[in-house]
Amino acid sequence: MEDKVTMGIMKNHARCLLIVLLVCFITALGFAAGPDTVVYITKTGERYHVEKCSSLRSSKIAITLGEAVERGYGPCQRCKPPRLDE
Ligand SMILES: [Zn+2]
Repeated sequence: MEDKVTMGIMKNHARCLLIVLLVCFITALGFAAGPDTVVYITKTGERYHVEKCSSLRSSKIAITLGEAVERGYGPCQRCKPPRLDE
């Protein structure tokens, strides 16, 4: 019984923490991006990038964020491009 209560409290805390982290993360990014935001992909990569990313030296193809996500591209770890706000 007591364990269940403890677990319930833990779950609530975890959820709050997750929301706080999420808000911090979005704030850190500075904006919530819409699907029309322009990002850049490369010919061979599976990530999308912001314009200034050094990964774009070989090729640089402009694409909307919505289309990039739709095509299965993920955000670059290096330049941390905007994510689609869901
Ligand atoms: Zn990048």
